[in-house]
Amino acid sequence: MKRIVIAIDGYSACGKSSTAKQVAAKLGYTFIDSGAMYRAVTLHLLNQHVNVEDLVKVEEHLNEIEIGFEGSSILLNGNNVDTEIRTRAVNENVSAVSAISAVRRKMVHQQQLIGRGKGIVMDGRDIGTVVFPDAELKIFMTASIEVRAERRQKELLEKGIDESIESIMGNLLERDRIDSNRADSPLIKAEDAIEIDTTNITLEQQIDQILDLAKEKINEN
Ligand code: C5P
Repeated sequence: MKRIVIAIDGYSACGKSSTAKQVAAKLGYTFIDSGAMYRAVTLHLLNQHVNVEDLVKVEEHLNEIEIGFEGSSILLNGNNVDTEIRTRAVNENVSAVSAISAVRRKMVHQQQLIGRGKGIVMDGRDIGTVVFPDAELKIFMTASIEVRAERRQKELLEKGIDESIESIMGNLLERDRIDSNRADSPLIKAEDAIEIDTTNITLEQQIDQILDLAKEKINEN
């Protein structure tokens, strides 16, 4: 059966990764959370006390960083950092780090290598526009800011982190602002992407919609 590339982009906390992960599982595809890669780079820079605004210093430290995956877990220089990449410090610095071209070049190169064999679902901000412009299926996910913040608060509470809605909303809007306005690979909907507004639908419905679209593409000649 034909194997395709599925690119899922959109704003912060629209449920992209949860959806992508389950779509990949149902199709027997590889799932890659590209945001986790940018988060791991940010974590390393913060651990090394690098000022993320200092482009020269960031570039100097880039060659110390090796990102890998073990299943859907993210490895930073061989260590599982699934929990550490979700902290507030990473949330507050990741968009600045992701705006740096040298960082993007390194991540995009690795993402393209992973996607060479097709059979992949990758979510992020520039997957359909830059990483896989020829992806067979491109999705652009949106949701209201209120719903996104509520969902993120619930996820954090499940991990024992209690953060106010206002603080979460502030971080999501600030990341969207930086991600949408950066010079290199800004977050925009690819012309050929299909938009799915998830404000009023469940995770299961999002997954089913994308699976139906994927099956159409897989069965196309
Ligand atoms: O997807 P997630 O919210 O975990 O991504 C964290 C941050 O990583 C985003 O706010 C964005 O700054 C950056 N990112 C990016 N390009 C991607 C994926 C994520 O710039 N493809």
